[in-house]
Amino acid sequence: MTVREAAKAIESKIIGWRREVHRHPELQLETVKTAALVSSALREMGIEVREGVGGNGVVGLLRGEAPSGAPGEAVRTIALRADMDALPVKEETGLPYASEVPGLMHACGHDAHVAMLLGAAQVLSDMRKQFRGNVKFIFQPGEEGAGGARLMIEDGCLEDPRPDAIVGAHVGSLWNVGNGQAGFRPGPLMAASDRFEVFVQGMGGHGAAPHASVDPVVVASHIVTALQLIVSREINPTEPAVVTVGAIQAGTANNIIPDTCLMKGTVRYMKRDLGPFIKKRITEIAGSVAAGMRAEAKVTYHFGYPPLVNDEDITNRVRASAAKIVGEDNVVTAGTTMGAEDMSYYLERVPGTFFAIGTGNEAKGIMYPNHHPKFDLDEEVLYLGTAIFVQACLDFLGEEGPYKEK
Ligand SMILES: [Zn+2]
Ligand SMILES: [Zn+2]
Repeated sequence: MTVREAAKAIESKIIGWRREVHRHPELQLETVKTAALVSSALREMGIEVREGVGGNGVVGLLRGEAPSGAPGEAVRTIALRADMDALPVKEETGLPYASEVPGLMHACGHDAHVAMLLGAAQVLSDMRKQFRGNVKFIFQPGEEGAGGARLMIEDGCLEDPRPDAIVGAHVGSLWNVGNGQAGFRPGPLMAASDRFEVFVQGMGGHGAAPHASVDPVVVASHIVTALQLIVSREINPTEPAVVTVGAIQAGTANNIIPDTCLMKGTVRYMKRDLGPFIKKRITEIAGSVAAGMRAEAKVTYHFGYPPLVNDEDITNRVRASAAKIVGEDNVVTAGTTMGAEDMSYYLERVPGTFFAIGTGNEAKGIMYPNHHPKFDLDEEVLYLGTAIFVQACLDFLGEEGPYKEK
């Protein structure tokens, strides 16, 4: 049986897991039920399980049982990662297995990530006598903003044994990857995501007497305009970066000049050292524009997910593994996005790759983007994701070990 056939053979199980998780979406770090489902499925497969990692994360460890090679031969470890959290979106798909939790939905496809990874665990567990080395299955909570990956790492998910490579994937129509295709890109794939707030302190007064006040709305408007210069005039145009002010909050009435104005924004960039630079410039520009207008601006800046950078060697290897599953024609180059993913935390520590699996299907009416209330995915693609994970593990572990393709 080929890897693809082995994955296809458990397709209904994979889809079953996906639907079960889809029915019971959980937010952020609170993936209690999903973690319980994952743990019990892994245990049933005879995989060692560590629960409660980084809160509600689960780590499974499968040890290959092929006869050992030369004495002292190094045992390699590869990690596979899935995220488990849903979104505060009210589902409008009308699917028979739609969310049973009001206001929450698996609108980013993390239900499919869980299912594909459990599928890989099942297939690899069934063939554990055929390979040497370890496969670590990392199921993390809190990808959507809560930084579950960081908590998992702090709780030791990359230790004992330490993976030599890590692989994760995302479903959807991201990065222009078509149905049933796998998209890869060595190097930077996704951006860092930082947040900032600018608090402008003016002096309130009557709207008819601006000279007797310091208008923080006007000051904030100048700050918004001036911040545009960071990307357009101060950063090398070949380096992608974004500074967006997404919220301005001030005032209560037509004829009152408010005392203060709060602005909130997001910053994105691909090259790590741009973060401190942009932070410094937002602080300087906001402060000096405000000072020039008799106001004061305080800036708070929070570094979020780092840029997601794929290792070149591992990306090329997994790409080759994927080609064995979906065919060379269906392995494509993924486009970059300024979206962020906390897979980046693992990739800062372990060489690895994050790739896209195309699950959109217009013929089936599956065409809404990730995070949309009608987001859905083509379940017939899921077994391919499972097969790519399995093939990647076998290829990686077999490279210097006894595993040979049959
Ligand atoms: Zn998402
Ligand atoms: Zn996602």
